[in-house]
Amino acid sequence: MSETIFTKIINREIPADIVYEDDLSLAFRDINPQAPVHLLVIPKKPIVSINEIEESDRELVGHLYWVAGKLAKDMGFDQDGYRTVMNCGENAGQTVFHIHLHLLAGKPLGWPPYTDKMKQA
Ligand code: 5GP
Repeated sequence: MSETIFTKIINREIPADIVYEDDLSLAFRDINPQAPVHLLVIPKKPIVSINEIEESDRELVGHLYWVAGKLAKDMGFDQDGYRTVMNCGENAGQTVFHIHLHLLAGKPLGWPPYTDKMKQA
């Protein structure tokens, strides 16, 4: 598959504000934050979207959620609350085709997370 910008971040070919790394995953700050804290938790394995998650990836995807919870605790927003989102495909607005868990925190987050205009569409 073709390489995305996230592979370049994993390989340190382009800079990112990395907050966590282990053998399986990397977490860094989103370049265009939608909340005071906006992190992206990604697997080092370049899975295109949720549609391409294989049975053998189940533990890896679970690991991303474990990292999200660890970061929430380590960064001190676990009790205030936060949101995780993984967009899949065009209607969800996925723009980078390497799965990533958005981790948003630092303010009350509206729900549902779309505008009235989009709701009517
Ligand atoms: P998606 O729209 O695919 O769910 O989310 C992709 C996210 O990646 C967006 O929130 C976007 O701001 C972020 N992003 C895109 N390119 C870069 C980059 O080069 N560096 C960082 N840190 N984030 C990026």
